[in-house]
Amino acid sequence: MLSDPHRLLKAISYAAEQHVRQRRKGVPSGTHKRTPYINHPIRVATLLARAGIEDIDILSAAILHDTVEDTDTTPDDLRRKFGETITNIVLEVTDDKSLSKAERRLLQIQHAPQLSDAAALVKLADKVDNIRDLIEEPPDWTATRVKEYFQQARQVVDGLQNPHPNLLQWFNAHYAQRPTFDK
Ligand code: ZN
Repeated sequence: MLSDPHRLLKAISYAAEQHVRQRRKGVPSGTHKRTPYINHPIRVATLLARAGIEDIDILSAAILHDTVEDTDTTPDDLRRKFGETITNIVLEVTDDKSLSKAERRLLQIQHAPQLSDAAALVKLADKVDNIRDLIEEPPDWTATRVKEYFQQARQVVDGLQNPHPNLLQWFNAHYAQRPTFDK
């Protein structure tokens, strides 16, 4: 069995390779290039660490949370490399991409109350970083899409059982800064 830091570093290395061709959605501003995708899972794990979470399985799952949804990584790949506990957390927060966007949104809201404690932490930290990104590096989305994203994130977070107080506070602080749109 690998030591804890070694397992976490292995997860970072693997996720970086799997996401290598992806970039975050933000529009380039000035001379900045769009952020490499891996910065998002690293930020999600960092938020959890800042909130006091030290469980390496949870931090590793945060690093890997978008690999099955957004890359060609399969659940079996994760099981072989990282074991059952981490894989199960990742799968709990993975959307079924064969469904429509609207169905996936609805299922996320419906599943939120049933998430395990570990998956709920990853889900909440993911939403914190996603809405922070929408505010700080706005993508080229329509006003309706931005508004719907904030609404859905709010509904998912409100459905979580016992949301972590620090993460919830950060979510609320970003949510309060959401853009308001002229009618
Ligand atoms: Zn994510």
